[in-house]
Amino acid sequence: MDKFMHLVCPVCSGKLSPENQSLICSHGHCFDIAGKGYVNLLLVGDKNSKEPGDNKDMVKARKRFLDKGYYEPLAKCLCTLLSQKLQDMNHDGIILDTGCGDGYYTDYILRNTLSDHTCFHIYGMDISKEAIRLAAGRNKDIVFFVASLFKIPFSGNSADFILNAFAPSYDPEFRRILKHNGILISVIPGRSHLFGLKSVLYEKPYENDEKGPDLPSFRHVDQVRVKDSIKLCSREDIADLLAMTPYYWKTPKEGIERLNKLTELETPVEFVVNVYSKQG
Ligand SMILES: [Zn+2]
Repeated sequence: MDKFMHLVCPVCSGKLSPENQSLICSHGHCFDIAGKGYVNLLLVGDKNSKEPGDNKDMVKARKRFLDKGYYEPLAKCLCTLLSQKLQDMNHDGIILDTGCGDGYYTDYILRNTLSDHTCFHIYGMDISKEAIRLAAGRNKDIVFFVASLFKIPFSGNSADFILNAFAPSYDPEFRRILKHNGILISVIPGRSHLFGLKSVLYEKPYENDEKGPDLPSFRHVDQVRVKDSIKLCSREDIADLLAMTPYYWKTPKEGIERLNKLTELETPVEFVVNVYSKQG
């Protein structure tokens, strides 16, 4: 199987076929396959800035942090969920990770779940080119591509699963891409997620509201909660954690100064995994 087969041209939505080191459609729109194997399908007109998405320092911090296994309980939970669902299926299947960042979960799932289901293919997508560049370095068997969530260059009715972890969501595109009865797995921060970090950053920290994404085309079918406590034992890990959160941008200077003095930090982590099925 052509591993790029579900990618479509972001200009005309035509089928893309591999040719030398490029993907090309019948109208001649051509996209280079980078040395690392990823494809940039984000058109200049669909960018809201020169380099949209997380920048190089942020994605590197994220990768260092995740590679230390701090969020592995969530990765394991996603594998268990997918394994259960995959057992009920006996055909080729496609998983699309939207907003895959540095590809930690995408790669973890392929290594730990899909190795038993060789007819399954996984794609990872993000708007940050720097994130996709790092992700592609993790695993050559995964097709990673740069694209906008609002115009995903992916064929309709083709995916069995969409994974949307800590990333923005967009109902119309998820609906278009998923097969009938396709499953959307969404991960959002739970109430107590990173409360230890927030307690250092803010005078009055608040719990998260657990408000799920707006998904009118989907029916909520299941929820799994993953709760753990993590202990960070170095300044670098603490700084890396901060850099992968929204607090990195919106914390008053005094909060950042308090955090910078710490050499250890203990905090709860809590993830809410919501499972949705495509309606009608
Ligand atoms: Zn085209």
